[in-house]
Amino acid sequence: MPRKQPCKVAENKSDVVREIPIACSNEDAAVDFLERKRWDDVPCCPRCGDTDVYKMQNREGGREAHYRWRCRGCKKQYSVRTGTVFEDSRIPLRHWCFAFWAACSSKKGVSALQIQRQTGLSYKSALFLMHRIRWAMADNPNTPPPKLSGIVEADETRIGGKPRAADRKKRGDGRKWSKKQKTIVAAAVERGGRVRAEVIPKVTGKHVTPFLKQHVAAGTTLMTDEHTAYPMAAWEIRAAEHHTVAHGSGEYARGAVTTNTIEGFFGLFKRKLNGTHHAVSTKHLHRYIDEAVFIYNHRAVDDGARTVAAIRGANGKRLKYREAVSA
Ligand SMILES: [Zn+2]
Repeated sequence: MPRKQPCKVAENKSDVVREIPIACSNEDAAVDFLERKRWDDVPCCPRCGDTDVYKMQNREGGREAHYRWRCRGCKKQYSVRTGTVFEDSRIPLRHWCFAFWAACSSKKGVSALQIQRQTGLSYKSALFLMHRIRWAMADNPNTPPPKLSGIVEADETRIGGKPRAADRKKRGDGRKWSKKQKTIVAAAVERGGRVRAEVIPKVTGKHVTPFLKQHVAAGTTLMTDEHTAYPMAAWEIRAAEHHTVAHGSGEYARGAVTTNTIEGFFGLFKRKLNGTHHAVSTKHLHRYIDEAVFIYNHRAVDDGARTVAAIRGANGKRLKYREAVSA
């Protein structure tokens, strides 16, 4: 009888996959993991940037109770939480590690309810934690990424607007899905590259143009559907060419002219909303957009690298409790 071959395990390039289970169960390991990932193995002071820093110790020579560091440059104390989305949070860092991993390793995201069940935190804490992680995933407004170029597809979609259960029993328009109650999300994607998306109030040239101006470079080839908002926007952003597909008459592709890439992004985003989160309020929708954009833009890297990218994104961002709940 031939000997059985040992099963082949795909070699994961990042060691994060092996470190994460330990970091999720042990606070010391979680702190160590976040310190190494946040500072890329060169610990530095978040206040002055000095790398002449040391770990504070307790009497027994172990780590100080709050895992603090001291900077020899500015003589101040800090910890891995200082100047990040975890500052002002009392949630143990092992739960942060778990939530970062969960959010970055599943394509359709993770709900606060699931985090609640798996960590034992309250729902309120779990929701707050997830909103902060989504903020860590958002592009840093101080260092915006380069604009989209080459071939760029732009489109918009409508989210929500499902009538309340009480209204569904009413006669007439009350029970219909209302176009007015839907929230519009505009998005642009560079073919083979990154995506940008934002909530816009209306699909008109007035609202589409500033969105495209902010995210799309001049001289690109723009592909859209035949909506009347886009010709003006294309002219305003100085697009080299503007091609449209006539969705109204059943045309979805004409050679290379299609908006299938952006439709693909919207498809993923909607499956995430319907499959994982079920109902998302308009005021928090932008956070879910940031998450979907982050996952899409990091689709080419493995789960470990994506988790590290999100942890690095936590740098320089703080979100106060009130902002997280109301904004
Ligand atoms: Zn310092």
